[in-house]
Formats: sequence, C-alpha cells, structure tokens
Amino acid sequence: SARPLLGRSLAAARPLVGTSRSRSSSPATAPGPEGETLDQELRRLASYGQTSVSLKATLDTGLGLLLAPACTNSTGLTKRQRTLIQIATFLKRELPVRLARRAVELQQLPEGLHNMRSVKRVREWYEHSFVDIRRSAMPVDVATEQAFHDLLHTIYERHAPTLVTMARGVHELRKEMLATNEKGEFADKREIHTFLDKFYMSRIGIRILIGQYLELHREDQLDGYVGLINRHTSPAEVFRQAVEDATYLCEREHGDAPEVVLMGRTDLTFSYIPSHLYYIMFELLKNSLRATCEHHGSKRQTLPVVKVIIADGENNEDVVIKISDEGGGIPRSHMQRIWSYLFTTAKPAFGGAEDGGFSSFGDHTTDTPLAGLGYGLPISRSYARYFGGDLNLMSMEGHGTDAFLHLPRLGNRDEPLH
Ligand code: ADP
Ligand code: MG
Repeated sequence: SARPLLGRSLAAARPLVGTSRSRSSSPATAPGPEGETLDQELRRLASYGQTSVSLKATLDTGLGLLLAPACTNSTGLTKRQRTLIQIATFLKRELPVRLARRAVELQQLPEGLHNMRSVKRVREWYEHSFVDIRRSAMPVDVATEQAFHDLLHTIYERHAPTLVTMARGVHELRKEMLATNEKGEFADKREIHTFLDKFYMSRIGIRILIGQYLELHREDQLDGYVGLINRHTSPAEVFRQAVEDATYLCEREHGDAPEVVLMGRTDLTFSYIPSHLYYIMFELLKNSLRATCEHHGSKRQTLPVVKVIIADGENNEDVVIKISDEGGGIPRSHMQRIWSYLFTTAKPAFGGAEDGGFSSFGDHTTDTPLAGLGYGLPISRSYARYFGGDLNLMSMEGHGTDAFLHLPRLGNRDEPLH
C-alpha cells in the first residue's frame, strides 16, 4: 500500500479542509481569509514550519499511486484520485508557507539587493503565486483537484526563469556598487552568498514538490518514471544529452569544441531525478569545454579531450562521476570563490534590455550563455546536496580540473530546509 508521502504533513493539512479557508477564489487584491493585509498574511504563514520530504518518500507515494487499483471505494473515488487529492491538499498547505518565507526574505536582502528591478520581479512572482494558492478552492474532489493542478501548472511556468532573473539582479547590484565606491571584492559578499544559497535550495524543493505532483497527475507516465523520478536513470544517457547541448553552446561561442569521451560503467542505472543530473552535467561540461578552448585555442584537432568517468562498483554507496579536463585548471586563490553565486571569470552575460537577453526561458536551457552567469557551480552543488550527494572540484593549475560528483543511490535523507 502507499506509504504516506509526506507523513505528518498530511495530518497537519487536514484541519484546513472544510473550514472557512476553503472559500473559492477571490481577486488577488482581496484581503486574506482573516481580513489581514497581504503583508500580514505573508508574515504569519512565513512563521509556520515547513515539512521536509525525502526522495524516497516521494518515490514511495508515487509508486503507490501508479500501482493503485482502478476500483472506487465508498467515496466514489479511485485510490489514484484520492492520492492525488491528498497530495494536492498537502501542497495547498505547504506551498504558501514555503513561498511566504521566500517572499518575506526577498523584502529584506543585504546590500540593497531587494531594490534591484529583477529581484522585485522575482518577489512579485512569489507573492502572486502565494495569493493564487491561498485563494484557490480546497482540492476535495476530482474537479477541484483538476483546477488546483491547472493552477500549479501556471505557477510552475511562472517561476521558470527565477535563477537567471536573480542572477541579473545580482549583476545590477554589482554594477551599481562598482560604479560607486566598492572595488573588486563584490564576489565575496558573505551575506548575499548565504541568502542565495538558501533561496536556491528552497527553490529546488518547491519545484520538486510541484513538478512531482504535475508529473504524477499525467496519465501517460514514461517508462521507468514515477513522476520526476526515473527508477532507471542512466548517467550515460543523460551524459549524451548534456554533451550535445554544451557542445552546441561552446561551438556558438568559440567556433569549435573539444571531444568528450565517456568511460567506465556506461550501463549503470539508478533511481534519481534525471533532470537534476542533466543540469549538473550540463554546467560542468560547459565549464570544461570553455576552459579547454580558452587554454588551447579553438581548433578541435589540437584540443585535449574532456573525459567523463562513471565509477564502477555494484555496491557502492554513491554513484560517482568524474569530469576531467585539461583546460588549465583554476588558480588556487580562486578556489574558494568559484562556489560563490557571484563569481565568474567570463564577461557577465547580461544584455542591457530588461526583457532582452536570456531571462525569458528556463534556467538550464540552451538559451543561456556558455558562461558568465556565475551560478553554474554553486547551483550544481546545491542540486547534488539536495538529496545528500556532493560536488567537489580539484584543480591542477596550469594543467586542468577534475570535478567529482557524488550522488546517493536513493536519497533517504530529509530535505535541507531553512
Ligand atoms: P560561469 O561558468 O558562469 O563563470 P561557474 O559557477 O560555472 O560560472 O564557474 C565559475 C568560475 O569557475 C568560472 O568562471 C571559471 O573561472 C572557473 N571554472 C569553473 N570550472 C572550471 C574548469 N573546469 N576549468 C577552469 N576554470 C573553471
Ligand atoms: Mg559555468
């Protein structure tokens, strides 16, 4: 039978059902359910506890749903329908808390970051989605659950360019600071880094919760998939896609790209969210291809290959992947700063126009530049750490860089929540 997805969270969600809070939608500007202002409502919800969900629990609930028998019970609903309503009910309670925390935080950022236009835009998305969910009808039957699903789909799309938009905001601030007094050390602003780390971590969690629900809702699950999770995630397959996309960007930028070879356990599969593995590999490969081209010039014949190795070992605790390049390495004095969301040695990749450049699509598409956003490494490490893995870089200055990616076979750890 289905293991409770969210354990205590479902119990916590129940008191809301059937109370006055389940009134259906009112305009976004209407006062909150208790007649509070939006600001008061945000602050109150932001003070509630968040509920942590492990990858394994997510998988178990999804499996329960996929294997559910088609018969109905006394409520006239199938097990599948009831599970979807349960998940939707959990999200209706949990998402406003997570969104409110971020919206409140986005009002009080260090160094005046909250005043940057792009950051204000991101905050509006969070507030907008918060209000949408709070004012939506409680998902209690098939029709209201469907409406809730459609709402979350809209919200998922709304927030797609958050990373790249926040990065733009940081860039705006950097420009402002450099124009006034501060010189150079902007990349080391500790509070900004800490905030962004928490913010992006939280975003990963929110997108997993919504994404998993949206995927489970589809009737046509792809082979091997349980929502976002693929029980047979193949690093080799993900690798091929990431190489193709990173190579495309590298060739666009440098006219050519080094060859990338795959070695080791190309047959290995494990339970993971393939899109996360893709983001990480894509970011690491972009860095390796760029470094190789910049270090050796852009003639493919003379470019040393980039090697990707999937580690052997059936009973290893982790799946380990190494990406090795001969792109000249990273100076030791830069090693601390490469994990900063603000650090890049590329030309910052933002156009002038507010809506121009790269901000209108997702955060990890080929519509982004090869380098210059500065968040590739830290965000990749956050993805790896989210379910208990890690990412480390070893550099040999003058020669090249090895990136070691560790991913647990099936994350059984709770989410890191702030
Ligand atoms: P971006 O690629 O947008 O600059 P990243 O976070 O991906 O941001 O990388 C930060 C910086 O770390 C890069 O600008 C580069 O200076 C350095 N770096 C990362 N990976 C490598 C690598 N494989 N070889 C050399 N330098 C690297
Ligand atoms: Mg990069």
